[in-house]
Amino acid sequence: MPACCSCSDVFQYETNKVIRIQSRNYGSIKWILHMVVFSYVSFALLSDKLYQLKEPLISSVHTKVKGIAEVKEELIENGQKKVTEKVFDTADYTFPLQGNSFFVMTNFLKTEGQVQGLCPEQPSRRTICNTDRNCKKGWMDPQSKGIQTGKCVVYKGTQKTCEVSAWCPTETVQEPPRPALLNVAENFTVLIKNNIDFPGHNYTTRNIFPGLNITCTFHKTRDPQCPVFRLGDIFQETGDNFSEVAIQGGIMGIEIYWDCNLDKWFHRCRPKYSFRRLDDKNTKESFYPGYNFRYAKYYKENNVEKRTLIKVFGIRFDILVFGTGGKFNFIKLIVNIGSTLSYFGLATFFIDFLINTYSSKCCRSRIYPCCKCCEPCAVNEYYYEKKCESIMEPKSTLKYVSFVDEPHISMVDQQLLRRSLQNVEGEEIPRPPMDFAELSRLPLSVHKPPHISEHQEELELLGKTGSPEWCQCGSCLPSELPEESRCMEELCCRKAQGPCITNSPLFRRIVLSKDVLQFLLLYKEPLLTVDGNFTNSQLRHCAYRCYTTWRFGSKDLADFAILPSCCRWKIRREFPKSDGQYSGFKNNY
Ligand code: GDP
Ligand code: ZN
Ligand code: ZN
Repeated sequence: MPACCSCSDVFQYETNKVIRIQSRNYGSIKWILHMVVFSYVSFALLSDKLYQLKEPLISSVHTKVKGIAEVKEELIENGQKKVTEKVFDTADYTFPLQGNSFFVMTNFLKTEGQVQGLCPEQPSRRTICNTDRNCKKGWMDPQSKGIQTGKCVVYKGTQKTCEVSAWCPTETVQEPPRPALLNVAENFTVLIKNNIDFPGHNYTTRNIFPGLNITCTFHKTRDPQCPVFRLGDIFQETGDNFSEVAIQGGIMGIEIYWDCNLDKWFHRCRPKYSFRRLDDKNTKESFYPGYNFRYAKYYKENNVEKRTLIKVFGIRFDILVFGTGGKFNFIKLIVNIGSTLSYFGLATFFIDFLINTYSSKCCRSRIYPCCKCCEPCAVNEYYYEKKCESIMEPKSTLKYVSFVDEPHISMVDQQLLRRSLQNVEGEEIPRPPMDFAELSRLPLSVHKPPHISEHQEELELLGKTGSPEWCQCGSCLPSELPEESRCMEELCCRKAQGPCITNSPLFRRIVLSKDVLQFLLLYKEPLLTVDGNFTNSQLRHCAYRCYTTWRFGSKDLADFAILPSCCRWKIRREFPKSDGQYSGFKNNY
């Protein structure tokens, strides 16, 4: 939009001018593309519910694990191995955890009867010693079980390790039992209670609906809404083996996804459960495989504080609740429709692309080698011509030259001109199409019989003196301009040798006809002269103009067109100046 200069500029509206192409093919393409876009936009709008305002949820989770397990424990009592059977219930194998998680113990290692005292460390690269000098009093590191006393004592047989002040006997380094002690935890069930709230929509619900049979067990297809899950089934869903994971422990994610449609007419708000293994699946490759932690049970025996250290392996279940609730929103609908409107421009883009591609010059030769099939190219070329108006950079140094024996116009940069204009190779630009309507305004001269030259003797004189070497028509004269700007006027009407354009009967009728020139001058300014007689200068300048308009067509080109020397002098001779000093071409810029 142009800058506002006055108040009236504010009250205006600019719109685009368009070209309507009457074409069955392009019309069909347009409608097909519009239909495709419309279908896609409507489909996307409905399927993705883009008309809804989506809000995130907040949730709370509560879990209850149920199940009984019988565990065979090996105890060494008075040097003898003894197997005892113990029943584990919920309190034994679940531990309270922070956040939306629960833990089920599947395996453990026990170190019983530990008391505070002095005993040898477990043998390792850091603790094995030969003499007391290998041990350092007061030394402790995060890996050790206690504080070193500085002594090197016998651990077992001939093996010696540093003595530590710790809970004794220290925990032995050993692999968790195989199969896992609580392998039956596979059959345990967990009830998940999940309450959700969409604060944006002021809507609350939960995953246990009234009338739901609480004795059910979740199954992906048979009972997908049941909130009671069998632990073994969860692992089956993710393709893991429960017994394998039970040995070292692991982490499993239970995802509850709420995709709620809160519109009255399509109301639906049910959770979707899915499962995902969250720890390293490949226990062999990982650094610290599985999931475990230690805890201790403290007691007093004969007034001595003792403890049982238990390294617990198990599965932590993390419950992840997410989702959105959508409700119809008018603003959302408008915004989304607005953002899809631009897709309707696809038809314009595509058809313009076709027109541009199939109108190029190479189209005919490359795509349609036979002449009969060139028709699409010709049609597109026509559309392209109508559609596209190219304009040159308005540079005062650009000049246009036209030769009678060449179909195009040449564009020359005056700044780069070093030799006569005749010999410079310019950039080719197409000649503007002839406008017959304009031409019909000049009927006068065309009906008049051709005017016979009164200056025939001058022509003969010219023939005698000879034309300059750059002239091809034999009618040009050397330029009268100073040396430095002379090359601008060293231009013939032809590129190759042949007859001069000034000899054409049309030249006389269009350019030299006094009637036409007078008519044109009056047409422009009706009151220019009272008696209808114009000065030679007026007629001459108008004749220059007639020639350039005739040969160059468009006004843009005519203003910067250079007259060939033969035409210039022919005109000057017809309408001479009394002193014979002509100023020549002046730049209008
Ligand atoms: P003058 O009448 O003494 O000024 O000299 P001329 O007969 O050379 O006319 C000069 C006028 O004609 C100036 O306005 C020029 O712009 C115009 N004129 C002269 N030569 C050319 C030419 O080659 N091309 C164009 N487009 N205009 C020209
Ligand atoms: Zn010539
Ligand atoms: Zn000529």
